[in-house]
Amino acid sequence: MDRETSINSFLIDTGEHRILIDAGAGRLFGDCCGRLPAMLKAAGYAPEAIDVILLTHVHGDHSGGLTLDGRRVFPNATIYLSKRELDYWLSDAAKARAKASHQQMFVQGRAALAPYQTAGRIRTFDAPAALFPGIRALAAPGHTPGHTFYEIESRGDRMLVVGDIIHAAEIQLQRPDTTIDFDADEALAARTRKAALAELARTHTLVAAPHISFPGLGHIARSGAGYAWAPIPYSSVVRDVGQ
Ligand SMILES: [Zn+2]
Repeated sequence: MDRETSINSFLIDTGEHRILIDAGAGRLFGDCCGRLPAMLKAAGYAPEAIDVILLTHVHGDHSGGLTLDGRRVFPNATIYLSKRELDYWLSDAAKARAKASHQQMFVQGRAALAPYQTAGRIRTFDAPAALFPGIRALAAPGHTPGHTFYEIESRGDRMLVVGDIIHAAEIQLQRPDTTIDFDADEALAARTRKAALAELARTHTLVAAPHISFPGLGHIARSGAGYAWAPIPYSSVVRDVGQ
């Protein structure tokens, strides 16, 4: 059975910074994808307005949209990612050890990051790390070695951008042990997923998930032996939440 998945990115406008979390696949997956710049423009943001990009990890469906034809799509942005993550994808030894189905990920990830490296626009951190007021990076290894959650806090509310702990919500919420070939360390990825789901359900934290149906915002609740997804109602109404 074919399953459609979303590739969501998240924009946070703090007033001081326009922070994009992940950049989608760009042209890597063909015509299905790559509409992030157009969607940002529709929301009132030119690519040049983005000054910070936080990467959950370097897989092509999160980093591919950074670069088009070898050029930076976001020319004024500095990319932040875990030092472990960057070191892994740039390591020839790690590439040599990786299984055959992961080789292309190294090629794509390096190509996506290259023009930002050349421009001196990559910063790394050791998670946990406070990056900006109200924004912290948390280590969530397994899917990739430096896979990162981003915790956003504002006026007592908390949201967690969970990266790739969920690829197929219909399956992995009910059976969190289910791993995916893309995982660098499947056992560790499953442990990280189970711990995160338990914590998110217990704390009723708002979740932002790259691969749950657009826009990927909702809550995790316990359901039977697993969990269920409760999307927040999608609305096109622009509300002023500044008060
Ligand atoms: Zn991934």
